[in-house]
Amino acid sequence: MKKVGFVSLGCPKNLVDSEVMMGQLKDAGYEITNSADDADTVVVNTCGFIESAKEESIEAILEATNLKEQGKAKKVVVAGCLVERYRDELVDELPEVDAFIGTNQLDKIVDATEKDKQDFNEIQLTPIGNKTATYLYDEYTPRLRATDSHTAFIKIAEGCDRPCAFCSIPSMRGSFRSRRFGSIMKEAQHLADQGVKELVLIAQDSSRYGEDLGDIDGLAILINELCKIEKIEWVRVMYTYPTHISDGFLKAIAENEKAVKYLDMPLQHASRNMLKAMKRGGTRESLQRLIKRVRDAVPEIAIRTTFIVGYPGETEEDFQELIKFIQNCKFDNVGVFTYSDEEGTPAFELGDKVPAEVAEERRKRLMEIQAEISRENNEEKVGKTYKVMFEGVSEESELLWQGRLEGQSQEIDGKVLINDAPEDFLPIHGKLVHVKITEAHNYDLVGEIV
Ligand code: SF4
Repeated sequence: MKKVGFVSLGCPKNLVDSEVMMGQLKDAGYEITNSADDADTVVVNTCGFIESAKEESIEAILEATNLKEQGKAKKVVVAGCLVERYRDELVDELPEVDAFIGTNQLDKIVDATEKDKQDFNEIQLTPIGNKTATYLYDEYTPRLRATDSHTAFIKIAEGCDRPCAFCSIPSMRGSFRSRRFGSIMKEAQHLADQGVKELVLIAQDSSRYGEDLGDIDGLAILINELCKIEKIEWVRVMYTYPTHISDGFLKAIAENEKAVKYLDMPLQHASRNMLKAMKRGGTRESLQRLIKRVRDAVPEIAIRTTFIVGYPGETEEDFQELIKFIQNCKFDNVGVFTYSDEEGTPAFELGDKVPAEVAEERRKRLMEIQAEISRENNEEKVGKTYKVMFEGVSEESELLWQGRLEGQSQEIDGKVLINDAPEDFLPIHGKLVHVKITEAHNYDLVGEIV
């Protein structure tokens, strides 16, 4: 049986694309291996978002073509966002690569693997760049999941129509398009039957789910219905947009026990000047009102957000405004990125670029301030007991188990390290347990199962 090795880079949306490609190849009789070394074909699913991600993708492609030169792999297929952004350059500069498929061509992965270069290139379709991108996987698409058995991503929509000036995603993923409601519900039931306990809903712009299908508050309706699936314990939503946080959505989070009390909402900045230059709108005051509205609607909610520092034109004053904002809002989880100057985005044309070392120094300062805030938030949990999704032996130490609070998303937020449990405790992944918190760190917590 021919073996295909997969290298999946970038965000969870790209991971779902890899899972869909692996599912189709498995259905076509291929064996999927995560060791590229002993694969006949190596597929590199790339990320093309920012400089560091692009470099990582190119490195992975060169490692794969090296395996081919060594006579190990016979074929290299390159997929994903980098292909959408630089297809022509990649075709010219990487003749060793046998096939390139974009984010709108996931259903061509078997052809790309089976057909020889000449034949496959003949069936190459138009690049995604334009507004015609339509591809959406559905409940019948074979999918080989790469996440832990008890948690699964569901991509509820693809593409984005927002004008954020620093972002190249719309040019790589096409226009916003929602999956059909029924398709998501069937996939969710299917995942629940496979033993999945946590559904993580993802898209570039989850808040707009259903809008293009004529559904007002489609995301709220979806959450209400997904929470009715018996075997599911948690429903989590990632990547919401600040101007689209509806009362219906907050009500769905507040009123459904299975809807985790968690909001992932990238804000990118808080100074009026920067938000305007980023074409995101709003002010520190309007964002603080939004955070208050969210917390009034769902008092125990944990909020995750991300910021960009070093954006063209950012002054120390703008940065101070951002510091004041996070000190006021005391977010639970924060990611901070330095601006990446991406050609083809409106921001690339802006003057007044901030030196990289200044941007990096601002990123460090903001993370130091947030580490203290995160620790204070965690210290308030000591002595209290919380529902935790049990996830088995800890990555930190074999002597510890680990799990997550509702307010902790896998991989990107802190976790709960578990150092004690009743004698008769059965360590089942995905099981909800009660943990009494005994210790707080900057991001992680320590506790015992009671
Ligand atoms: S909403 Fe997100 S994906 Fe869409 S343009 Fe803005 S940053 Fe990019």
